[in-house]
Amino acid sequence: MTTQSVQNFIKIHQSNIIKDFDIMRLILLGPPGAGKGTQALSIAKEFNIPHISTGNILRANIKQGTELGLKAKSIMDSGLLVPDNLVMEIVEDRLKQDDCKRGFLLDGFPRTIVQAESLDNILEKLNISLNFAINIQVDTSVLVERAVGRRICKECGATYHTIFNPSKGGDVCELCSGKLYQRPDDNEKTVSKRIEVYISETAPLIGYYQQQGILVTIDGHQSISKVFEGIAKLLRRN
Ligand code: ADP
Ligand code: AMP
Repeated sequence: MTTQSVQNFIKIHQSNIIKDFDIMRLILLGPPGAGKGTQALSIAKEFNIPHISTGNILRANIKQGTELGLKAKSIMDSGLLVPDNLVMEIVEDRLKQDDCKRGFLLDGFPRTIVQAESLDNILEKLNISLNFAINIQVDTSVLVERAVGRRICKECGATYHTIFNPSKGGDVCELCSGKLYQRPDDNEKTVSKRIEVYISETAPLIGYYQQQGILVTIDGHQSISKVFEGIAKLLRRN
């Protein structure tokens, strides 16, 4: 190639090169019902990154009747955690996909210290690191009401709440008219179990990421839009 053609090549491809400082690699922490999935949609849109929810991937596997789905169903219905090795396989495969080159938002993962350490190993192998761990802080007392009132669109996955964020379409989605459903694990008994599991297995991750110096905490009792404003500000300021 001549010098001129090398310069032209660079010019043409410059706009396609993702600069590392533009990339957001994020995880969302918080108890069940804190608002992770709700905020994830806005954050993913704002930073143009894929939203990776291990819960959504597991539910899709249950729906498709895969081997993974069959193994996960009864565990999820009882409010316990799916074994670390199964979840790690999902995440490792997903992070290697092309769209994660421009960053990613992990929602509901990691859930244990073992998962967090395995994630660190994967990221090290890929020669990348997390920018922030966003902790949505919500008191345990409001979580059951949040989760039990959650309704999800069967078609597009939009999340509503019967009281705090009702669909304008009643029991159909205001965006796509899909039917709304309640997750089988969003009943009082299972939600209480999931909160217990969060406290013993997942809450220690707050200290883990604080030690890494990447923890940011947001008050999740505010309105959905205020929580998002707060998160966007924290990510831009840091
Ligand atoms: P998570 O993914 O953390 O389990 P979701 O984002 O699915 O939580 O939210 C749980 C329920 O609480 C949903 O029905 C959602 O509409 C509602 N919700 C989310 N954020 C708020 C908020 N800031 N205030 C009131 N309700 C909320
Ligand atoms: P979520 O959709 O995040 O509320 O997760 C629903 C359920 O999926 C949990 O109660 C667990 O049974 C399972 N699950 C989701 N993510 C994980 C994870 N990272 N590790 C283990 N189990 C998970």
